[in-house]
Amino acid sequence: MLNLNKSKELFERAKKVIPGGVNSPVRAFNSVGGTPAFVTRGEGAYMTDVDGNTYIDYVGSWGPFIVGHAHPRVVAAIEKTMKVHGTSFGAPTELEIELAELITKIVPSIEMVRMVNSGTEATMSAIRLARGYTKREKIIKFEGCYHGHGDSFLIKAGSGALTLGAPSSPGVTEGTAKDTLNATYNDIESVRELVESNKGNVAAIIIEAVGGNMGVVPSKKEFLVALRELCDKEGIVLIFDEVMTGFRVALGGAQEVYGITPDLTTLGKIIGGGLPVGAYGGKKEIMECISPVGTVYQAGTLSGNPLAMSAGLETLKILSEENPYPELEKKAVMVEEGFKNNLQKLGLNLCQTRVGSMSCLFFTDKDVVDFETANSSDTQKFAAYFNGMLERGIYLACSQFEAMFISTKHTEEDLQKTIDANYESLEIAYKLQNA
Ligand SMILES: *Cc1c(COP(=O)(O)O)cnc(C)c1O
Repeated sequence: MLNLNKSKELFERAKKVIPGGVNSPVRAFNSVGGTPAFVTRGEGAYMTDVDGNTYIDYVGSWGPFIVGHAHPRVVAAIEKTMKVHGTSFGAPTELEIELAELITKIVPSIEMVRMVNSGTEATMSAIRLARGYTKREKIIKFEGCYHGHGDSFLIKAGSGALTLGAPSSPGVTEGTAKDTLNATYNDIESVRELVESNKGNVAAIIIEAVGGNMGVVPSKKEFLVALRELCDKEGIVLIFDEVMTGFRVALGGAQEVYGITPDLTTLGKIIGGGLPVGAYGGKKEIMECISPVGTVYQAGTLSGNPLAMSAGLETLKILSEENPYPELEKKAVMVEEGFKNNLQKLGLNLCQTRVGSMSCLFFTDKDVVDFETANSSDTQKFAAYFNGMLERGIYLACSQFEAMFISTKHTEEDLQKTIDANYESLEIAYKLQNA
């Protein structure tokens, strides 16, 4: 048994002063049982907890760490900024321009970009901008997609809300909810119907082009093509929420993978290299509606924070200089094939999905293409599997509806250990040991 004694003590202490003991609900292990490990250190592909257990980490802070924890170049960049310049000024700095220039170079659809402090802020601001630009009120999102915890998005959201069985949240007013329309992922007819019945009133359609918060659910190319055409025809702003997929599934994100150009893109996670950063950007014509150029208000005391800019900038520099994507693909294929072999050997027929270095093993035999099929997963079997993996030193996201992220720091040996643990944990989940 894994020794989590110190984590247990800390969890009890935390629960007295922090709701549920955590600052983000998904961390609480509610859906898998047990105690969350309290972490003391991350390095490369590994994470160590307060009881001295070391794990091979596939969460990567839930997305940012594509080049691993505490990458020496990123740490050095933060250190340098802190020592030479300071931590925050509330005045513009050159670092912000450098990061913005690099982003606009990497993601051609982004002509201008505004920095914020989280993915949530990015998506909230992007829909306000789309509404201001179009002078329309409604937005369309997709059931199972997660766009942060802004009120407008907590309507049948994925991830935490899905895991905790609360498809929308108390505290979100009916007034707000009525302006968010939910379509079915990968189903263009469901979008057309909503656009028809709200003719001339839809400001934006926001989508995770590769769904990452109902497990990993890739969209179909023809679906995205049709979505783009529909938005063009109806004057609707198409927003790709690439907070998770940006710089992850390809350097240029999901829009590069599919060859589709959105009007606006939201970014987060990798863009901060482990520090709190989000961003939204896109067409100049739309972006210039933001204050101080335009009248759509959006601001932030710590937006463009120098430490955060340095961490993000250095991470994006590493990615553009080293182009690790072919190598990440190779590693991800190794895991995918390894899991597939295990499933075959064990006579299990489970759905696996993957785009680049983000993947998911769904505990269902259905072909997962949307929220409903993702939701057919057996979350109890997942919980048993998760705990089996954790016991074996493999740290996965503690929910069926999250992605497994591979970083450049995972070695072949790490991946082989993971594949072996997968076999044993599947045996446990399906009680196959004595079969
Ligand atoms: C994580 C995520 C968000 C929210 O970002 P936070 O930084 O947690 O606020 C929004 N959209 C997507 C697609 C995400 O994966």
